[in-house]
Order: sequence, then C-alpha cells, then structure tokens
Amino acid sequence: MTTKSHLFYQTDSRRPVLAEARGIYMWDVDGKRYIDGSSGAMVSNIGHSSPRVLEAMRRQMEKSTFGYRLHFETEPSEMLATKVAKLTPDGMEKVFFVSGGSEAVESAIKIARQYAVTIGQSSRWKVISRTPSYHGSTLGALALTSYTPLTLPFEPMMQVMPKIPAPRAYLDGLELDDPATGAHYAAMLEAKILEEGPETVLAFIHEPVGGASTGALVPPEGYMQAVRAICNRYGVLLIHDEVMSGGGRTGRFLGADHWGVAPDIIAISKGFGAGYAPLGAMIAHDRIVDPVLKAGGFMHGHTYAGNPLACAAGLAVLEEIEAGAMMENAAETGDLLKSRLGALMQRYPFIGDVRGKGLLLAFELVEDRQTMRPLPKALNAYSELVELAYQEGLIIYSRRTRDGTEGDHFLVCPPMITNAEQVDEIMVMLTSALDRFAEKVEP
Ligand code: PLP
Repeated sequence: MTTKSHLFYQTDSRRPVLAEARGIYMWDVDGKRYIDGSSGAMVSNIGHSSPRVLEAMRRQMEKSTFGYRLHFETEPSEMLATKVAKLTPDGMEKVFFVSGGSEAVESAIKIARQYAVTIGQSSRWKVISRTPSYHGSTLGALALTSYTPLTLPFEPMMQVMPKIPAPRAYLDGLELDDPATGAHYAAMLEAKILEEGPETVLAFIHEPVGGASTGALVPPEGYMQAVRAICNRYGVLLIHDEVMSGGGRTGRFLGADHWGVAPDIIAISKGFGAGYAPLGAMIAHDRIVDPVLKAGGFMHGHTYAGNPLACAAGLAVLEEIEAGAMMENAAETGDLLKSRLGALMQRYPFIGDVRGKGLLLAFELVEDRQTMRPLPKALNAYSELVELAYQEGLIIYSRRTRDGTEGDHFLVCPPMITNAEQVDEIMVMLTSALDRFAEKVEP
C-alpha cells in the first residue's frame, strides 16, 4: 500500500486495510481478526465469502456481466424477480431493480407520483415520513430523511417533506404492547394528513423495523395496522422502506411480515445483495404498476439496473438463506443475543434500552434510565464505544439517536449465520469495551 491515499468518503480518517473476510470474521492486512458484529452497515446478512454465491457469480461472469435493459432481458434478473415476487405480499408482482437503497427509495417515490398523475390526482405530491428517519443520501430520499446532520447542509435546495414523530414509546414512557400506544402514534399520521390537506398527500414512508436512525425501533402494538387503515382512508400510498429490515434479518423476509401488513410499495437493498453486489429493488402492487405501464411506461431507470451479475448474486443469496434456514437462525440467535444484551442492563446503569427483532438489534446509552436523559454530548459515546469495541476486534454500528444531535445507540447485527458460541465471543468483546467505556462515564 502507498501511504498517500487519493480516496475520500465522509471524513478523511482511515481504517486498516481489509485483507479477507469469511463467515462472520474479517482480517486486516496485519492479520488482526474482527467479528463483523454489524454485518458492515447491516448488509452482509449471509456472512462473507459464501461459496454458493461466489460460484454463482463466477458462472455468470463467464457468460456475461452486462446486458443493457433496452437491448436484452437477462436470465438472472427474470429469475430473481420471480423469486422476489413469491416472497412479497399477494398482488406485488412487479419488481424494479436498482443498485442500492437510495435508488430503491427514489424509485418508490417516483412510481407513486407517476401513478397519482396517471389516475388524475396530480395534486398529490407530498410524502410524509418520520422523525428521526433515514431513507437515503440522494436529494429526493434526503427530503424524506429526518436526521439533521445529514440534511441541514443541503437545505433549502431540497424540498423538505412533512414529518411525524417515530413511535419511540421507550422515550415517551409508553408501553410497547399497549394498543393505545400504537393508536397514539398512528393518530399523528392522520393529523398530519389532515393538516397538509389529504388531496396533496401522495404517500407515507416508514421503516417497519427501524434501522440506523432509530436504532432497531420496533413499532408498538397495533401501529402497523392503524397506519395501513389511515392510508386507505385518505387514498395515501403506503411505502415500506425495508432497505435494512428486509432480506430476512428480522427473522422474516420483510420486517412488515411480522404484522401481516402489506404496503403499496416496498424498497429493499442491503441484505438483498448481502455485500456481494450492489443490488436493490422497488416492488409495487399491480394496481400501481399496471396503470403506469399502460399509460406509456415508468419514466425512470438507472444504467446498471438489473445487472445480470448483481442479479445472479442476489438469486444465490436468497437460495443460500433458504438452504441454510438463515431466517430461522436469525430469529433464534436474535432472541439469544437480545436477552444477553438485555442482561447487560444489570451491569451497566447507563444502558437505557435494548430493542429490535431477530438480528436487527440495538441498545441505547443514557445518563438516567428513569428520564432517558442522554449521556453528555462531550463523552462522544457513539464514537468512543465503537472505537473501544473495534480495538477488541468487534465491529458495531452507532448513531446519534435524538434526530442526530444527541443520544447514542449502537446496532449489534451480526450475519444471520451467527451461532450461540459466536454470540458468546461477541459478548466477551462487547463487555470488555463497555467496561472500559464505564471508566469514562464514572471516572
Ligand atoms: N433506507 C434505509 C432504511 C437505510 O438504512 C439506508 C441506508 O442505510 C438507505 C435507505 C439508503 O441505502 P443506500 O446507502 O444503499 O443508498
């Protein structure tokens, strides 16, 4: 490696160079081993270097790596679309491939808008979303995102869309399993639609199980169903952003499958390509897609969409999930890991909440568990604890929880192949990191 790098991402800080990755483990070029305790950014769901996926990609590479969609159909994209349609709710038969989560969200908004125009409802253009939320880094997806460090620098050049609070029952002192809690937060959507004027509201977008912005937020009892009913009442399309919660990590293919609620449009990515290829998809109900196609077609697309190599990888990822009963393992290992994380609350008074579903899990740090007052900002917990864990050889993922300005939560989301012994390994490393962090909290 040369010492001067010409790469840049969000900051110019540098990490060790990755040498290889297998299963839930990764090694840097100095031979240090890491547990991929966050599957990258909740991406490498089936673990690294799956022989099945590598072989499928190798076979596809030898046939073709690109066929532009205006010139050719490709077998992998047809086969993957058929498989995805079987895994999504009835009537959601049409799959539109993209290369990532932001593109999937952009595609969802654009098909919703084109549908509204097609059926003569062009006054509908607003997309309501939640605070906090993250729906992607492109300007359209940022307009739906509510996370000030990421959005403020770009205002006012993007049209900021209306927001309602995410159902963070744990911060509001409400019971997650009380139907009144679900009704309370869903009522905020209805109020917002009425405030904006239903005839102007195109869609509501939310994550069935929250990702990085909320830290694996699980909706309260009745919320998902109530949101669906409100959208129906006002002719508002329901978009599920399953970019992180989809693909099996929660124990079901879609996060919303836990509540049996079908949206109108779904965005998926991350675990769908599982780190083997840039891949995402927007899946919409036939009642949305058919009128748009009949009226001349969906005015949207990306050059790499439906790339045969990416689709071959995606197909093999789904086969691997099925063959390895990985969703079942995510549910089982997720229960174990969640209870082990929950037990840490006895040892560390500064853990305020543990939440999530399957292997989409998070814990939140606070100064005071009664009031859920966050730790002082100066502690920089969200980066400090990640660093301490990294030194132990454990990768976890963190975010500031209160709209990105304060509060700290940490996602512990290892691949869906993680077993009980590996949960032990994760807990040993995490406990060491937390012990060292505790010295900073209580000097
Ligand atoms: N939506 C959600 C819920 C996400 O978590 C992300 C990424 O973290 C995105 C959209 C954007 O995906 P990408 O980074 O692949 O563009």
